[in-house]
Amino acid sequence: MNAAYSRALRALALRLETLKIHGHDQLSVSCADWKEDMRSKLKKLKSATAQGGARAQGGATAQKRIRSQSGVNTNTKEKVASLPPAAPVKADLTLEDIRVEVADCQKCALAKTRTNTVFGVGDPKARLVFVGEGPGAEEDKQGEPFVGRAGKLLNDMITAMGLKRSDVYIANIVKCRPPGNRDPLPEESAQCMPYLLRQLKVIAPDYICSLGAVSARNLLETTEAIGKLRGRFHDFEGMELLATYHPSYLLRNPGAKPEAWKDLRLLMKKLGLKDPRKNNG
Ligand code: SF4
Repeated sequence: MNAAYSRALRALALRLETLKIHGHDQLSVSCADWKEDMRSKLKKLKSATAQGGARAQGGATAQKRIRSQSGVNTNTKEKVASLPPAAPVKADLTLEDIRVEVADCQKCALAKTRTNTVFGVGDPKARLVFVGEGPGAEEDKQGEPFVGRAGKLLNDMITAMGLKRSDVYIANIVKCRPPGNRDPLPEESAQCMPYLLRQLKVIAPDYICSLGAVSARNLLETTEAIGKLRGRFHDFEGMELLATYHPSYLLRNPGAKPEAWKDLRLLMKKLGLKDPRKNNG
């Protein structure tokens, strides 16, 4: 299954899940029609991409095609507006709705060992969302992402960009702490990612900054090394995603900080932010 097809399925799953949350009789009928329509489009797409040469280019083209065929525009804010008329429910989905669902979630084994779920924090209309991999010990205790040493460094990074923590939104791939700060297992990430995708849909940021390999790989559905993924923008569901190093990695490897700063400057340029360090000579 190629990446474009897989992303299309994920987009489909996300949309169906969102519809389910607010489902009622009338909705389920139109949802079934829409589902059938999507199935047929995805089938055509799978066949087209299987026949096509130039895999990478074809994948990107196909992805755009999925969006245009499914009514999912490249601008995420337009995604909400472009839902089929029979399903105007997405507009009223809020972060609080998702937070309540997460608070009771038992979908994976991490529920058994968590103290608190760690949903996310920041501006619900942020243009920039940082995504880490999962909560650590301090985050698990406080129920807030990036509040330990790595959180302090992330705050410094945000300040260096000329922003405040409250200007951005911060979340993780998984909402519960993996014991011993291990990486989340693929099945844990798979169970938890729909929450993040729905958060992103509600916030509709212009940019996502993934922090570390686990975050970038899950979001971009790749196994490539962070060293290869960082330093450039990737398309993610109509948003621009920049991958950079995780603050924890930077604490262990301070020599990588200039590279991370280069990444952040790419984001600053996109956001129209001036480099405050230049003003100070
Ligand atoms: S990590 Fe995510 S999927 Fe697993 S129990 Fe926590 S909230 Fe649910």
